[in-house]
Amino acid sequence: MRLLEERILKDGKVRAGGVLKVDSFLNHQMDVNLFMELARQWYEAFGADNVTKILTIEASGIGLACVAGLVFGCPAVFAKKTKTKNIDGDLYKTQVESFTHGTVYDVIVSRDYIRPEDRVLIIDDFLANGAALEGLCDLVSQAGATVVGAGIAVEKCFQPGGERLRKKGLRVESLARIKAMHDDGTLEFAD
Ligand code: 5GP
Repeated sequence: MRLLEERILKDGKVRAGGVLKVDSFLNHQMDVNLFMELARQWYEAFGADNVTKILTIEASGIGLACVAGLVFGCPAVFAKKTKTKNIDGDLYKTQVESFTHGTVYDVIVSRDYIRPEDRVLIIDDFLANGAALEGLCDLVSQAGATVVGAGIAVEKCFQPGGERLRKKGLRVESLARIKAMHDDGTLEFAD
């Protein structure tokens, strides 16, 4: 079994509505040694792809993206969530529907930090319906830059995001893939 899957079995908590709580090691308290191992696994997958920038979305992707930036030797950028309507034009903007909150919000990134020549690896903690990942891909395409692929920590394969984005040609490397989560608090990994 993979490292992250073992940790999910040990410390993850299955919650109602298909939500996995991983606050104790992934997105509240952060096990940075584990993050380093995850970043090395993404490097095995994307290390030959001349990545020049890591891109994530605030807040819970930031820790993973920083450690990935260390391993890939490039800057990490996080797209910001904003409620401000009229922001000035030096940025790319898209809309994302939040899986955890059920709301739609604007996400922005400065034009200075994604350039047309960039080769971008997107990093995030979860892939569920795929809205966050799709929004990040949209920002990169507005910049005229290249998406090399996506490094995801936990993919919930029973939600449609991963399949839809792979069908569109996006290379997605998920380090733990959950096939099912049950009401009794148990879960199953995909093969
Ligand atoms: P998506 O946009 O793919 O539907 O959802 C991705 C985002 O929702 C991730 O950035 C993550 O923050 C959050 N998310 C989705 N599913 C879960 C989950 O089961 N647990 C937690 N903690 N966050 C989740």
